[in-house]
Amino acid sequence: MKLLVTHRFRLYPNKRQERQMEDTLETCRRLYNSLLADRKERGTGFYEQEKSLVTLKSEEKFLRAANAQVLQDVVLRLDKAFQAFFAGLSRHPRFKRQGRYSSFTYPQLGGFKITGSRLKLSKIGSVKVKLHRAITGNPKRCTIIRDVDQWFACIIVEREQESADATLVNAKPPVGVDLGTANLAVLSDGTVFHNPKHFSHAVKRINTLQKSLSKKRSGSRKREKTKLLLAKAYRKVRRQRDDTAHKVSRYLADTYSCIAFENLKILNMVKNHHLASAITDSTWGKLRTLTAYKAERRGGRVILVNPAGTSQKCSECGEVVLKDLSVRVHRCPRCGLILDRDVNAARNVLKRGLERALVEEQPLLVQRRVISRFAPVKQKASGFIRG
Ligand SMILES: [Zn+2]
Repeated sequence: MKLLVTHRFRLYPNKRQERQMEDTLETCRRLYNSLLADRKERGTGFYEQEKSLVTLKSEEKFLRAANAQVLQDVVLRLDKAFQAFFAGLSRHPRFKRQGRYSSFTYPQLGGFKITGSRLKLSKIGSVKVKLHRAITGNPKRCTIIRDVDQWFACIIVEREQESADATLVNAKPPVGVDLGTANLAVLSDGTVFHNPKHFSHAVKRINTLQKSLSKKRSGSRKREKTKLLLAKAYRKVRRQRDDTAHKVSRYLADTYSCIAFENLKILNMVKNHHLASAITDSTWGKLRTLTAYKAERRGGRVILVNPAGTSQKCSECGEVVLKDLSVRVHRCPRCGLILDRDVNAARNVLKRGLERALVEEQPLLVQRRVISRFAPVKQKASGFIRG
């Protein structure tokens, strides 16, 4: 079976290359906004927009500076944003303000190429890259990302999946996961992952910087400096969150075969304005995605289940035992079960997961569904670029 793996490498562009990458981001941002306006005003669809790109390029000079496939990918990206919106997974696509567009993608090999410690990018040049691990397999896509003042390349590689030993996978137990705010995750077997302390440290630092930013005169150098510090503080949170999600997901994928999560609405999470909770929320999303990715590589799978009533139901006898958030222990009057509230919820998640696993063969990963819908479209697009 073919498998897609993502590698992330740090880039060290020189001044000229950096300027060119900035320019490409800006070009893509302008194109994205004009395509979005077009869809809003005239209701144009993906195929029409894809075709109109050629005409657009002859009309708009600024588009010529960027690689054709990179621009093509912007059309696809906007369409994906709409698909996610229609599927109820995210908000309606919005116009990107200046500086708010931070990545562009070469959708196929040729536009980018790896030779030694250099990454050759069409229209940008040969950029120094730190390959901290060897790339095995065929590079398929390359996304260049600006992260505040650093640059990265995310390279998607296709390789043959080493077939997971079925007996080994089956020897692992299944598990249910209850995601929470007091604790990041509680498992049906009683394992607890606490919310890391650095989350609250980061919140303090960000609040201090935000306050100091509001006192600085707009346009002043001090304000720009504080803005950069703030962006770096946010980046630190993001990296810590990702690190936590990586560690927990690795544990889950290594230890269990079938991993059941609640199918919480991501849309609701994004609306959370309280910073500390927002960090936890985004960690959940990351955790689920990464666990699915890693479990699949080890022959396991992630199952998403209906979250309704998981904390109220008795995981032993099914009796509904109503309790508000302050009640931390589940006590069942019917069967006498006394259990930590979250562990009880996690056991319910596991139960539903196992029921679901019997019915459905495919892993229920929303993201994968969205991506696979576009696979044939991408190939179609590639033929048209060469012409
Ligand atoms: Zn009971």
